[in-house]
Amino acid sequence: MKRNRDVDLMRLKEHLKALRLPTIQAECMKLAQECLAAGVDHLGFLLKICELELIERERKAAARRLKAAALPAVKLISEFDFTAQPTINRLLVLDLMRCEYIGKRENVLLIGTSGTGKTHIATSLAMEACSQGKRVRFYRVTELVTQLLEAREERQLSRIRGQLSKLDLLVLDELGYVPMGKAGAELLFDVMSRAYERMSLIVTTNRPFENWTEVLDNERLTGATLDRLTHRCHIVETGGESYRLKDARRRRVAKDVNKPEAAASKGPEQTSVNTERPGV
Ligand code: ADP
Ligand code: MG
Repeated sequence: MKRNRDVDLMRLKEHLKALRLPTIQAECMKLAQECLAAGVDHLGFLLKICELELIERERKAAARRLKAAALPAVKLISEFDFTAQPTINRLLVLDLMRCEYIGKRENVLLIGTSGTGKTHIATSLAMEACSQGKRVRFYRVTELVTQLLEAREERQLSRIRGQLSKLDLLVLDELGYVPMGKAGAELLFDVMSRAYERMSLIVTTNRPFENWTEVLDNERLTGATLDRLTHRCHIVETGGESYRLKDARRRRVAKDVNKPEAAASKGPEQTSVNTERPGV
């Protein structure tokens, strides 16, 4: 009898492998014993083991989606201090975290100076979209433009266009930091117009709209790009004062306050200056 059971088990594992059910294969013995002890019937066992397989499959798919999104870092919205950036419309950002804009193919534009949380919010939105089953890809604009220019050289544009067309959400970080030249701007415009009403875009920029002509190197292209991007678009203004700078200043104040001799010798009015060169 013992031998038959071993053979059965071996065949069962082979079948589960052929059916590509690795979690059931790994867990079936343990769960069968647990169900036997708890008096759970066959259907109950089958239900539980199928649920385990589905949960694990979804976990792996989410990890794959996250990897494919190529996010620059892990940034959670729960780590974002809205009180430090009062310009930001907190309710709008939290509403966007529900990802309904993606279903409606709407766009998000984050505008503000450097260090004000644009990339942080864009990354949090992208992470949430991944966890809701959306296909996401994060690019710094210069990275995408370089890839597009290279692909064009190698006559591979259709391949990259094909990859982009499968997305639900494309994040373009740092539009306007580096001028991209006429060819680059045209390729970027092409990506944005293909995305128009087919997927959502999140764009972060430090440039007000009136300066986009300098970035895109062409007035007609700028008008057309803005037209597509801002049609059905949520605009999040992140403001003017860098969080990094403010944070550095706050840390320095805290450090000085905790250092009695420094606080005593300097006085509070001198503790918050010169955050750029701490210790000088
Ligand atoms: P930007 O893209 O606007 O230049 P980032 O999003 O890269 O700015 O922000 C710079 C750094 O400061 C990041 O590490 C980010 O996580 C952090 N940061 C910015 N704003 C906040 C905030 N309000 N709360 C917490 N961290 C913040
Ligand atoms: Mg940024």
